[in-house]
Amino acid sequence: MTVKDTQMLIKDMMKRLYEDDSFLPEESGDARERFFQSGTEILTTTDKVIKSYIRVSRDNREIERIPAYRVQHNNIAGFYKGGIRFNEHVNEEEVENLAVLMTLKNALHDLPYGGAKGGVVVSPNQYSTRELNMISKKYVQRFAPDIGPTHDIPAPDMGTNEETMDWMVGEFKTIHPGKNYMGAFTGKSVANGGARGRREATGRGVYHSYLWLTDSWASTVKEEEVPEGVHRQQLRSLHRLLEKNKSGEPIKAAVQGFGNVGSVAAHMADSCSRLNHRITAVSDHQVTLVNESGLNIERLIEYQEKYRELPVSEELLDRIGVKADILPPEELVYQKVDVLFLAAVEDQITADNKELIHADVFVEGANAPIDKEADRYLHEQGKVVIPDVLANAGGVMVSYIEWKQDRVTYLYSEDEVLKDMTDHMSESCEKVFDSYFREGLSGIRNTCYMHALKRLFTLLYRHGKLF
Ligand code: NAD
Repeated sequence: MTVKDTQMLIKDMMKRLYEDDSFLPEESGDARERFFQSGTEILTTTDKVIKSYIRVSRDNREIERIPAYRVQHNNIAGFYKGGIRFNEHVNEEEVENLAVLMTLKNALHDLPYGGAKGGVVVSPNQYSTRELNMISKKYVQRFAPDIGPTHDIPAPDMGTNEETMDWMVGEFKTIHPGKNYMGAFTGKSVANGGARGRREATGRGVYHSYLWLTDSWASTVKEEEVPEGVHRQQLRSLHRLLEKNKSGEPIKAAVQGFGNVGSVAAHMADSCSRLNHRITAVSDHQVTLVNESGLNIERLIEYQEKYRELPVSEELLDRIGVKADILPPEELVYQKVDVLFLAAVEDQITADNKELIHADVFVEGANAPIDKEADRYLHEQGKVVIPDVLANAGGVMVSYIEWKQDRVTYLYSEDEVLKDMTDHMSESCEKVFDSYFREGLSGIRNTCYMHALKRLFTLLYRHGKLF
């Protein structure tokens, strides 16, 4: 899903809101048209794009200047908020799209934040800890005027973690002596003001959105209660999973991406007491591991935590006692499973491979892993896609808890944090799935956008920004 696709979807949804007389009934005629034109223009354009080059002196004494970005899309709902990604494929268009998705995600979940995103064009596993420390500090130096606890609050994303955030907050403190610094970054280590459970929060939230839809919601709804056509087909797909589970047959699942988000989602599915899963495939950027009888997820997580990657050879698999066939990474999405958790990178299911995919339910742990055409195709086939803006918000929900606790110097317990996150996720799921299935709206992603845009537009209107 490119930034243009996301902007097109925003335009479509704004048009539908304009045509819906029950939304903002106090405005009609020319004034209504002008307000909606203005709101659409604001929400489909970006407030600020900042690009800089970070100078790194490598351990081998070579000097490199690497591109770095911070994109601030919109802050009508609160301070800009979004992760910083370290990855060799980072580019301006991708960062901008991720910033727009953050605005929509925060609005959908009623978080008091706007949307932003950052990125550095660097492959973190080819840089030493000293080099990464330098890149992180220089990033803060370059973007210092645009970051702050009441302006723009970064967090970890792909290729960054709590150590990166600790370094960054340390540098922010040095640059701004005497100023409030703790809440300038979230996703920090617990020792440094981070929230307990933050690291697991996104993966747990991803799994919770799927469990809520399948086990808490679909199990209570009968076919005749939802409109005929795609909605009913989708409900049938969910009922099939529940029937399998009831008959003692495991639900087969595969997980793409075995990092922070994917490994936690895999663990949650593997150890879930409410639905019995068999994880038959997992992948990372180097391999897909497949075992039709089920992979030993616990041992793979232990290995991944130690080496930051999955085992890539028979010998390494033997060493940890895991049985699996080794395939290339791109094979994961073609596995014959019921559920696919997509927790790696963008554009994994696209117009080119959409017809070769077997799963019935897709959970977007990553941002934009399914492109626009494939999304439409899967929807028309009666498959269920739980979209990124809904499924992967657990991290930013817990970031909000961390930001609050940094302001009052109070440490919430892990149980409090995770309960808060799962309750919040359940509320958002109820809002989206109830309106999608019962009102027969035109797509789950469209429904998410509709809820988010209603909030953003109402705030723009109330703030007097539409003229
Ligand atoms: P991570 O760096 O911890 O893990 C990423 C994983 O994806 C690694 O296992 C990597 O090897 C794998 N990968 C990369 N390219 C791949 C490919 N082509 N095929 C298969 N695997 C591949 O990152 P993360 O924090 O787990 O983030 C994963 C995704 O979730 C990203 O898209 C990120 O934007 C999104 N996300 C993360 C968070 C968060 O809190 N960490 C929040 C919201 C969304």
